[in-house]
Amino acid sequence: MSAIATNSPQKGVNYLKMANLNTVPKQLKQPIGDMMAEMSNLMFKLSDGKISVDKWRELMARLITKNHLATAMIGLNDLEIPEELLNAIRLSIEDQLVYLDIFANDLRMRPDYFPVWRAEMYALSPLTSYDEAKVFKRYGRMIPFPAMPKQGTQCHTNCGCKWRVVEIDKEKGDFNCFWERHKDDSCQTCLQREEDWYPIEVRDWMLQL
Ligand SMILES: [Zn+2]
Repeated sequence: MSAIATNSPQKGVNYLKMANLNTVPKQLKQPIGDMMAEMSNLMFKLSDGKISVDKWRELMARLITKNHLATAMIGLNDLEIPEELLNAIRLSIEDQLVYLDIFANDLRMRPDYFPVWRAEMYALSPLTSYDEAKVFKRYGRMIPFPAMPKQGTQCHTNCGCKWRVVEIDKEKGDFNCFWERHKDDSCQTCLQREEDWYPIEVRDWMLQL
């Protein structure tokens, strides 16, 4: 109870501190913001005892899945998601569900722990699917990046890094792709990727190692 009373007036502060909306593209600020609100709402319901952790996990998983698909449709500017892109999106969703299970476990272990900020960070995860959809829209297929920004980075969904794609011969599927580190990103993963993946070479649609 008291957790809500003390936390709710600072909800906006939590947002800005933890889940960084600065790197969210303009057309996604509304849906991502809505998703954040829904996710904090679920955390309040949990702390109120209105839903169980299992139920919370199920509703969070549904929100994550729905929003990955929705942002991909926005990035694609199409309601039909091609199979190849869908497979990539599935992997991103599965990734998030693994983190969500760990989160659910933490909640079970600590009955007084209701971190709204941690729940809200999941709202940024669909940006990965949006980025992948953008690539697909541009090239008609997926570039085999070794990982996307926000995937497996220590800064999690706050990662603001980007792939910069230099087309060598896009018909042949030849690209040099540079992991551009966001100026505020200095977690170990992003620094390492900048070092290792600057650039990666893709030839004939295959990642060269
Ligand atoms: Zn990053």
